[in-house]
Amino acid sequence: MSERDLLMIPGPIELEPTVLEALGRKTLSHLDPNFIETFGKLLEQLREVFGAPDCTPMVVAGGGTLAMEIAAANVIDSSDNVLVYNTGYFSDRMARIAERLGARVDHVRGALGEAPSLDALDASLAAKRYKAVTMTHVDTSTGVLAPVRQIAARAKKAGCLTIVDAVCSAGGEELHQASWQIDVALAASQKALGAPPGLAIALFSAAALEARKAKKVAPASLYLDIEEWLPILAAYEARKPSYFSTPPVNLISALATSTELLLAEGMSARVARHRWLSHAFRAAWQALGLASFSVDPAATAHTLSALCYPAGVDASLVTAIRDEGVVVAGGLHPDAKTKYFRVGHMGSTRPGDVLTTVGALERALARVGYLGFERGTGLTAADKVLGGQLPHA
Ligand code: PMP
Repeated sequence: MSERDLLMIPGPIELEPTVLEALGRKTLSHLDPNFIETFGKLLEQLREVFGAPDCTPMVVAGGGTLAMEIAAANVIDSSDNVLVYNTGYFSDRMARIAERLGARVDHVRGALGEAPSLDALDASLAAKRYKAVTMTHVDTSTGVLAPVRQIAARAKKAGCLTIVDAVCSAGGEELHQASWQIDVALAASQKALGAPPGLAIALFSAAALEARKAKKVAPASLYLDIEEWLPILAAYEARKPSYFSTPPVNLISALATSTELLLAEGMSARVARHRWLSHAFRAAWQALGLASFSVDPAATAHTLSALCYPAGVDASLVTAIRDEGVVVAGGLHPDAKTKYFRVGHMGSTRPGDVLTTVGALERALARVGYLGFERGTGLTAADKVLGGQLPHA
């Protein structure tokens, strides 16, 4: 990949220069007052990003998968019943994590590329008592956007804890942890939050912390245990030095910078921008005759597009797009990997990136011999949306 290529995969993403600058600054001691201020403020600001004024944020070195493990390990005991509202590969991963903890896992599934029906969810909740319901806000393998608010409301009514994988939604999709009754929201730094990969994030509600305290057995891993971190996190918020495991100082500074940028833009403006850009992309895909892998537009993510290869086109399209200077991703779900590709559009993505990507796609489609479109129609369709009003979130 040339440094001039445009990175349009669903994470990691193109970073704002000030975020990279923060990453490259001198590494401070984790006990330096300046770092303590940066980390303390980041924890406070994450509550704003997640709409979680009373939740406890935890930020540690690791990926989104570690954040999933943190969420599960702190509230799930062996033999607990867990229900997975399954929208793809990452929902399956959460099920595997819960199973490793000894939980008994059931799934509510829809057809691949579709959000399971809420009636099916109701039926499962009525049939058995579950300790927790897990859901993937945006499943990056399918592009499906789950109706988190409705799922969580039903789960809470049935007395369950709610765990939301917001790795591919936090900072890009509408998300209000507290008012949507989410007990653990988990994320990672490298997607719509706009920082480099390397940080696992989880925010715990009071009920989730209670569930940790009430666990029959403490989490097997010390590093994942929120109880170990609580005094450390509280100390940073009180701007006091403390130590449990050395925080990745530079990554935390980078995330603090991207979070500042995010809040300066404003959460609702940011969500509106993601919708607007995704609608510009959707107009282009339609004009080019490309079908979305996620079937229902109302249940489709605004942070990425998953697109079916048109007839006669295969994964060589991804390479052809790369040769045109834009990096996109292939399919991910094991049952359909070779049938679609994915374009990420989150965080720092701007209108010019939409046009660059659609232009590269048009040239690549022509190169691989796809004749189902007229050159320029995708660009014109996207540009029309970009020239219009920014829609409300
Ligand atoms: N959940 C979702 C929805 C994701 O998109 C990803 C990463 N693509 C993960 C979890 C896992 O994150 P990581 O690759 O950082 O472990």
